[in-house]
Amino acid sequence: MSTTKSDLLKIIRGKCLDCVCYQAREVELCPTERCALWPYRMGKDPYKTPRPMTKAQRENLSKALAARRQKTTAQHDEKL
Ligand code: SF4
Repeated sequence: MSTTKSDLLKIIRGKCLDCVCYQAREVELCPTERCALWPYRMGKDPYKTPRPMTKAQRENLSKALAARRQKTTAQHDEKL
């Protein structure tokens, strides 16, 4: 198993949260633009070009994301 781009973005996000005592809002407001991690601090690649999608693909993706969110919420609620 290799490290994916998504894994690296999560690692950077974790480092940024550690840097500001786990205050997510402080990561967002970080003024240190000269830090090499700054563009990636929100856990996303700001330079990624959006994938062109048809309306049908967009709707399918939207449904899949909603189903995943619902499943994740249900799993979270079970743990409580
Ligand atoms: S981008 Fe900001 S929050 Fe992230 S490591 Fe650098 S200084 Fe810390």
